[in-house]
Amino acid sequence: MNRRSKVLFARAQKLIPGGVNSPVRAFRSVGGNPRFIRSGKGSHVVDVDGESYIDYLGSWGPLILGHSPAPVQAALKSQISLGTSFGASTENEVVLAEMITNAIPSIERVRLVNSGTEATMSAIRLARAFTNRTKIIKFDGCYHGHVDSLLVKAGSGVATLGLPDSPGVQPAECGATISIPYNDAETVQQVLELNRAEIAAIIVEPVAGNMGTVLPAKGFLQRLRKLSREHGVLLIFDEVITGFRLSYGGAQEVLNVKPDLTCLGKIIGGGLPVGAYGGHHEIMKWVAPEGPVYQAGTLSGNPLAVAAGIATLKTLKKPGTYAKIERMAVELATGLLIAAERAGIPVQINNIGSMFTVFFASSPVTDFQKAKTSDTDRYAKFFNAMLERGVYFPPSQFETCFVSLAHTHNDIKSTIQAAREAFKAAAS
Ligand SMILES: *Cc1c(COP(=O)(O)O)cnc(C)c1O
Repeated sequence: MNRRSKVLFARAQKLIPGGVNSPVRAFRSVGGNPRFIRSGKGSHVVDVDGESYIDYLGSWGPLILGHSPAPVQAALKSQISLGTSFGASTENEVVLAEMITNAIPSIERVRLVNSGTEATMSAIRLARAFTNRTKIIKFDGCYHGHVDSLLVKAGSGVATLGLPDSPGVQPAECGATISIPYNDAETVQQVLELNRAEIAAIIVEPVAGNMGTVLPAKGFLQRLRKLSREHGVLLIFDEVITGFRLSYGGAQEVLNVKPDLTCLGKIIGGGLPVGAYGGHHEIMKWVAPEGPVYQAGTLSGNPLAVAAGIATLKTLKKPGTYAKIERMAVELATGLLIAAERAGIPVQINNIGSMFTVFFASSPVTDFQKAKTSDTDRYAKFFNAMLERGVYFPPSQFETCFVSLAHTHNDIKSTIQAAREAFKAAAS
């Protein structure tokens, strides 16, 4: 079993740091040999040894339609025959910009980039330029890509001035970043008052997905909106996961809070590398060439990525899609909860829309500190037991499972059946 994956991983480790091109793929926190994937269709992926898995990774979020959906394949094929990159404007960039601004009214102008990281990096630069301030508020456990100034989760307690999570990041860069516990609006208010006229932006995942799924407490985002207005601070929603995931209008539509700037990625590229940032015209007009804030990209608005994104959004826009994915997710989350209870394992299942996380924790998970009370050894056992049974969950406790439009009732039933056994395995 996993023979080819093992051989490939051994080869990869001699060539690529840790054998992977993005760290979590290495399975370090769950153990075992990472699977090398050969193909994906619908709700399933198949590895190089021919093992098939029901997939809840969804490429970490982009694949809301499942793997290689027909409309995306068709769009890509026809674009490939026309060319893959021109370094000049194309009609489809305008079409995608129209689709995004129509879906998310707070985005009046939008700039396409190549990744979520580029989107948040550019949004921060823009916010600093626009406000002529330097400090940034973020939240513990929120991930905004590997942007230097945002690689901070900070210590516990009240607003710690940022220390970088990674060597190579200048303390000076992170010193301007203040990280606060998620859902703690009280501390945000204190920090804003202590740093009057110094905070450029508050950046937040409106529903957190990168410490596992963690929901905003009632009123949390509304308070951020109110406080940011009072202090002349820009509110940036990082909707790289939630954009077109929680609804066609993103988390801001579901939760009814409008940010000044929004970052997008993942779904809007339909499985190809993409990102975007946008917002009010008065802010976006600071971006070059309309304004002085420089930001560019050789492959930005790439024709293949844009074609895949348009095809994805068109499919999502059809009536009933979100309701369908959500029903599947609720059915799955409910089944998993019952299975865990029967196995006598305390879990907290956080679920919104098609996002969920099974935390092996005994009290509700409302921020990163609570998330970290999870029994990660138990998660590792559960993950591996699921994998052996043909179900691919994210290889870390602190990630989100994604249900796609391609998942069927049979998939859900099989997943719950596998989980009954996997929870038992994790109990021992
Ligand atoms: C994935 C992610 C990013 C980074 O996107 P990349 O395309 O990986 O650079 C940023 N913010 C959030 C919320 C994400 O989930």
